Amino acid sequence: MDKVNFEQDQDMQKIDISKLNIDELLEHMRGCISYFCLEDCYSHCCQKRSFKTKDPAEVQAIFGLKDSKEIIDVDDYRLKIKDFSLKDTEYFIQLDPCPQLDKRLCKIYDDPKRPAICRIYPVIEDRNLKTIILSETCPAFLEGLFEPYYQEIEKRGYKIKSVI
Ligand code: SF4
Ligand code: SF4
Repeated sequence: MDKVNFEQDQDMQKIDISKLNIDELLEHMRGCISYFCLEDCYSHCCQKRSFKTKDPAEVQAIFGLKDSKEIIDVDDYRLKIKDFSLKDTEYFIQLDPCPQLDKRLCKIYDDPKRPAICRIYPVIEDRNLKTIILSETCPAFLEGLFEPYYQEIEKRGYKIKSVI
């Protein structure tokens, strides 16, 4: 989910996307759906989301924890800790809804610890494979809102793939 009002959304439509580099283009794609996210989709991906992370700071930010020691107290349904070791702990987070969601808006939108997946979803880049992965469960994708970008992505040597 993104944070842009209708006026900002309209400003984005005026940008010539043929002049953007790949990073700017992807940011533009994410930004262009902000109004749709809020007004049509009702922040669906923040209502129900699961993801994995190895970054305890992201777990703290999502659950509003002050100390990483508190992570262990989050209940099992919302947080499963896999492969527990000091160096390489993987957290599996299930949100239903996200505790940081407040009336369709993200309370930690500007927090640098907001999980990376929140910042990039539903437009994910695999730089090694030069592939842009779009989420088929995102209504913006289903509505074809990214289609105007396909040609520009391909011009930059990237493939487009969609996943569930
Ligand atoms: S599911 Fe897609 S359209 Fe809906 S809020 Fe998330 S990114 Fe926006
Ligand atoms: S942290 Fe914010 S953007 Fe991420 S799932 Fe929660 S409400 Fe949505």
